[in-house]
Amino acid sequence: MIDKKHLKAFIEMVGKENIYDDKAHMIAYSYDATRTRYEPDAVIFPRDEHDVSNILKYCNQHLIVITPRGAGSGFTGGALPANGGIILGMEKHMNKILEIDTQNMVAVVQPGVINMDLQKHVEELGLFYPPDPASEEYSTLGGNVSENAGGMRAAKYGITKDYVMALKAVRTNGDIIRAGKKTIKDVAGYNIAGILTGSEGTLAILTELTLKLIPKPKYKKTYMGIFPSVDNAMNAVFKSLSAGANPVAMEFLDQLVIQALIEKLGVNLPTDAGAVLVGDVDGNVPEEVEFQLETLEKSFKENGAYEFKIAKDNEEAKELWYARKNASQSITIFGNKKLNEDISVPRSMLPHALREIYAIGDKYGFKVPCFGHAGDGNIHVNVMIDALQIDMGHQAIKEIFEMVVKMGGTLSGEHGIGTSKAPFMGIAFNQVERQLFSDIKKAFDPNGILNPGKMGL
Ligand SMILES: Cc1cc2nc3c(=O)[nH]c(=O)nc-3n(C[C@H](O)[C@H](O)[C@H](O)COP(=O)(O)OP(=O)(O)OC[C@H]3O[C@@H](n4cnc5c(N)ncnc54)[C@H](O)[C@@H]3O)c2cc1C
Repeated sequence: MIDKKHLKAFIEMVGKENIYDDKAHMIAYSYDATRTRYEPDAVIFPRDEHDVSNILKYCNQHLIVITPRGAGSGFTGGALPANGGIILGMEKHMNKILEIDTQNMVAVVQPGVINMDLQKHVEELGLFYPPDPASEEYSTLGGNVSENAGGMRAAKYGITKDYVMALKAVRTNGDIIRAGKKTIKDVAGYNIAGILTGSEGTLAILTELTLKLIPKPKYKKTYMGIFPSVDNAMNAVFKSLSAGANPVAMEFLDQLVIQALIEKLGVNLPTDAGAVLVGDVDGNVPEEVEFQLETLEKSFKENGAYEFKIAKDNEEAKELWYARKNASQSITIFGNKKLNEDISVPRSMLPHALREIYAIGDKYGFKVPCFGHAGDGNIHVNVMIDALQIDMGHQAIKEIFEMVVKMGGTLSGEHGIGTSKAPFMGIAFNQVERQLFSDIKKAFDPNGILNPGKMGL
């Protein structure tokens, strides 16, 4: 429960209507997509950056812990108030698209804007905001920048960090800072916007984002390659890309996922398929799209694909995408609980990484269906367990992380560290590197009031 004296101070700052402290709302705000629960003491909705500044200054003086929150769709507990205190909800007021500068092709937005709202808005103007996490319909751009979110289009267009040109943020002492510019080039000073991108709400509160836009490509086509084995498909990924293919997306389904899709949803895929790659190619002229498709087909076939399909129209494109879009829900046939990780490896290591992942699964007797963003090396690894196997499941995950890091990969390609992966940070970073993280945290937040415990900080 929040102390009455603090509640009164917050009411004076933002008004009673912008604060929740009742039990029902504390329960509602105790979750994110991890489904772990921590109740806050209050939820406060700042109206603008001055409210954010006043709240932070007060909390810093009184050592009240703050957890910033967008839509709460995070997969690693970043928006959970693991140490109580207040949640700063950015979605209620700070959700406006402030400017679309069509001449410089940038958008200036508040952090509570939903990703898809920006995409739709700029597409009406012939522009394109490519980062497309699967949560794009509800996740906020503030959450996307704080998690450095990626999506299916990352293979060609990169991830959120590639679109953050500048931002405004509030430090725990209440200072409002600007970092970056609308310019393409800016090498003056430290790249503070770069440090804040992916910082999971541990350093400062983001209050304004300047995001790069690009022209919207005019033509798009969907393809699917069917392979006898995962090894064939994984070789086709990096070999087709190094042969000059530049697909928007190259998504992967393994044999277990294909089996689940057929059994649970009756998806029309060959029962003997060992793996599938599906994705889009795009371009500004039809010839560019044709070139992409020819390059992919040639390379896929050289790497063992026995079928290469191209969707004739939108309906067929939707059919090809259906399998990938329903992969996650179908694999529940293998266990009632999944430990879902999102490792990422250099693309040439994909065949080796997948072999090792299945070997670790076999060792523990777990099915490990895998799918995801093969075109950028980011694979969703799902260790399927039942409720009594959680410890063993985590042991398997630890071995997977150790193997991935050894081959030059990372613990997380897009979901971040939060609380869920904090215990594994020692696998990926040595003592000296972790000390540097702590030093950066101290420079921004000397009293440790912002999202403590996240990323192991
Ligand atoms: C079904 C589903 C699919 C998903 N698919 C993807 C995917 O394809 N790619 C991907 O990358 N992620 C994916 N995610 C994870 C999640 O949606 C992303 O991490 C997203 O960026 C979180 O946005 P949010 O607004 O929900 O942020 P929240 O979950 O509310 O917060 C995320 C982090 O950002 C911090 N934060 C939020 N706003 C601010 C702010 N203004 N200032 C400072 N810190 C802030 C929070 O403290 C927290 O640490 C998926 C999630 C779900 C449920």
